[in-house]
Amino acid sequence: MNMMAKFLFPGLFILFSFGVQSAVANPPLPNDVRWVRNSKEYQYSCTYIFRKAAESVQVQTELPEVVKGKEQSKQYAVVVDLDETVLDNSTYQVERWNAGLGFTQDSWSLWVKRKEAKLVPGSKNFLESVRMNGVRVVFLSNRMHHNLNPTRENLRKLGVLNDHDLFLLRQSKLDTKEIRRAEVLNGTGRMEQAGPFTVVGYIGDQMGDFPSDLSGEIGRKYFLLPNPMYGKW
Ligand SMILES: [Mg+2]
Repeated sequence: MNMMAKFLFPGLFILFSFGVQSAVANPPLPNDVRWVRNSKEYQYSCTYIFRKAAESVQVQTELPEVVKGKEQSKQYAVVVDLDETVLDNSTYQVERWNAGLGFTQDSWSLWVKRKEAKLVPGSKNFLESVRMNGVRVVFLSNRMHHNLNPTRENLRKLGVLNDHDLFLLRQSKLDTKEIRRAEVLNGTGRMEQAGPFTVVGYIGDQMGDFPSDLSGEIGRKYFLLPNPMYGKW
């Protein structure tokens, strides 16, 4: 073995080994997570949906019979999901992927307590717009109620929390979104002080964020954001 080969082969071996280890340590992100984190298409889709939702809310609250008629005293609300609707948790997805692990309730709870979720594009403008129209924001999410404080703090850090916002997080497994939506509409249970509300918009990323089949109300009262990372499909 000449002198060059004597140094070159061990060097190449080290480089190759390092490369393999790096590839193992950091496998490329799956397309769904990359799309959410890196694509303009995701950003524009969300921004478009939130703009249309804000326009729809404005039209509904300005309907003449609402302004002049007996319904003048009605209170209006939008029911807004949190995860992958206002809060972008793709960092959690990246961390779990890089660790070769999937979703667990414990790791999710730790992530929520870190208060590091980012904003879904378009959500801030939407929330500001509906509030300017006098519409109350009800955050209705399956985050557990014991995580209310870190959730509020995360929203506050992102500049999207208002003191008048209402939160209906999940108290237990039996506390379904249907139960909580009924409380908003009827002014019962947790909504006894604040409600009842006429809901002029439901915004979410899962079918479970809407009261019924989407077909009739999609793009009018129901606004569905893209979430390719997880769901019951
Ligand atoms: Mg969600």
